[in-house]
Amino acid sequence: MKVAVYPGSFDPITFGHMDIAKRALKVFDRLIIVISVNPNKHTLFTPEERVEMVKVALHDVMDHIEVVISNDLSVNTTRKLGATHIIRGLRAVTDFEYEFQMTHANRVLESSIDSIFFMTDNRYSFLSSATVKEIARFKGELKTFVPEIVEQKLKEKLGHL
Ligand code: ADP
Repeated sequence: MKVAVYPGSFDPITFGHMDIAKRALKVFDRLIIVISVNPNKHTLFTPEERVEMVKVALHDVMDHIEVVISNDLSVNTTRKLGATHIIRGLRAVTDFEYEFQMTHANRVLESSIDSIFFMTDNRYSFLSSATVKEIARFKGELKTFVPEIVEQKLKEKLGHL
């Protein structure tokens, strides 16, 4: 069975993340979505809230997905979970530089684990969790960016209900 890990902040999950997860599931039998906890990174949602949103957003493919929280390096989490590959999404050229550095650092740390990149659908190539949070703060329309559960949680969190 081929298992991959898809790590990220997912603060919150967007249609872009979902697009990448579904593309990865065409190649891997199981996908473990790892909600990374980084004390230096301020997040809007708690790790548990992020897990819940991922599970609801991807409910139609949850038979093949597991969602975990980790405060470890992605390569360590990947190895501990028995996975062989790390999945990452590429939106635009701007993502490349960062991903290039991360992949090489990960390779030095754990040479047996490789990274695989999927390019997102055109519709989501400008979409990030940060953009979504910014739109939500100004009460903008979120329907084309995130699933209903995320829209609901953003409104609750920002006191817009
Ligand atoms: P991180 O804090 O690790 O960047 P994110 O939650 O922002 O975590 O993203 C996790 C992964 O998903 C990254 O590889 C990122 O490039 C990818 N990703 C995020 N948004 C999109 C999108 N709209 N299209 C494709 N990939 C995306």
